[in-house]
Amino acid sequence: MTKKIQRNEIMDKIMSLSKRRGFIFQSSEIYGGMNSCWDYGPLGVELKRNLKNTWWRDVITSRSNVVGMDAGILMHPKVWIASGHVENFHDPLVDCLDCKTRFREDKAPHKFKCTKCKLKFRVEGGKIITNKKFEEAFDDLNASEVGVYFNSDCPNCKTESSIVLDKIGCPNCGSPNLSAPKQFNLMFKTHYGPSEDSASEIYLRPETAQGIFVNFNNVANSMRGKLPFGIGQIGKAFRNEITTGNFIFRSREFEQMEMEFFIKDEENAKWYDYWINERFEWYKKIGIKEENLRLRKHENDELAHYARACTDVEYKFPFGWSELEGIADRRNYDLEQHIKESGKKLSVFDNDTDQHIVPSVIETSAGVDRTMLTILSDAYWEDQANNRVVLSLSPEIAPIKVAVFPLVNRDNMPEIAEKIYDDISKNMAAFYDKAGSIGRRYRRQDEAGTPFALTVDSQTLEDGTVTLRERDSLEQTRVAKDKVVAVLIEKIGK
Ligand code: ATP
Repeated sequence: MTKKIQRNEIMDKIMSLSKRRGFIFQSSEIYGGMNSCWDYGPLGVELKRNLKNTWWRDVITSRSNVVGMDAGILMHPKVWIASGHVENFHDPLVDCLDCKTRFREDKAPHKFKCTKCKLKFRVEGGKIITNKKFEEAFDDLNASEVGVYFNSDCPNCKTESSIVLDKIGCPNCGSPNLSAPKQFNLMFKTHYGPSEDSASEIYLRPETAQGIFVNFNNVANSMRGKLPFGIGQIGKAFRNEITTGNFIFRSREFEQMEMEFFIKDEENAKWYDYWINERFEWYKKIGIKEENLRLRKHENDELAHYARACTDVEYKFPFGWSELEGIADRRNYDLEQHIKESGKKLSVFDNDTDQHIVPSVIETSAGVDRTMLTILSDAYWEDQANNRVVLSLSPEIAPIKVAVFPLVNRDNMPEIAEKIYDDISKNMAAFYDKAGSIGRRYRRQDEAGTPFALTVDSQTLEDGTVTLRERDSLEQTRVAKDKVVAVLIEKIGK
């Protein structure tokens, strides 16, 4: 029996499991912790590597027309003038005039008013939500919709009434007494070289994409690129976010997996649709439940002035629907901007028209850490009947593929199990454990998301077979010990 867990409880449970099992730790914890910076532990780093490898394979190496690169984090300051980040990469920052908390206006908690009993109430991360219908309505709203009415049961008068999305309130004290928004640039500044004057100011990159655009000629020439072709990369990005929180959903240091697919402008609609579909299907392929995924097309007033269209892949996080990845038709804005700022030609030769053209681009931009949170939230469940917590990670991305246990710590079982572990670990990430009760050892691996466990028991001593236990179904079968590597490779599928 699966235990139904309140969505707002899941986040706390995932955070505590992440720490307990070594997925994710608060940065600099012994010094009191750094807000919104996170460190990945032994299981977290394996999960993240598997995730990034899967993306790299599916977006880059399995395609003949996409290549990878790895640009530096520090780039010429003019890059960010050309890209528009110096001028436009701002968030509206609001101060609470009562408690002096500073926060991002568009991410502040919503305030609602019941038109019947006049109760005003606020909702933060799903915390005061008392009924399901209201929760669902809340998921579909966003801050730009102030003044919108919808029908739901009021948490106070408990009857179906018309609720209005009123205003935002201070996330700390709830006060509506707020300053006018001020603009705050999200880029981290630092100094390049020994002098700390304004001439040496540079930025930590706020996205990886510009490293691709500025290297366009280098890559296109070295690979003899013919349109359409893509360039992808994975790397760190930094944003001095005003409102952080929700664990690794929004942090100040994070990783992106971005790909710029260069095309002839007239083919934009075809490739835009193609990449939306590819990226949506990819999340299903890595094991995310389809009912928790959706596509959201940006309204015209949300689009950057240069963008022709943008669609987000959204996930139903424990705190509501939010962006996981953006797929954007950016025309040829970025390349044109770098041409203007650098004075260099950035183009490819088009055989059809016999001329050099500045291609348009479809961008796919995903967050590694957000996908990690998605994977953990989606995989988490509680199996009450068997008194265990399970992470149903797909075998391909699970940090450990198989755990090997001797049933008891005697009768030559540890020696046989160690030998099996040695053989398996040459092929895949495995884990050996001989201490403690077998039930506890299984439960620890269920929480770590390990899809298979092999146990050497008394029957092994008689017929050379071991028990193969499957994490989700708890099904147990017997496999000859010299066949386990082949059987596991077949089950994992890669
Ligand atoms: P949001 O509106 O949620 O801040 P965004 O629209 O600014 O996101 P993009 O600039 O499109 O995000 O970045 C592409 C992807 O990078 C996002 O879909 C997300 O997965 C990831 N990302 C962006 N900012 C952060 C952050 N502060 N922490 C973690 N991941 C991030």
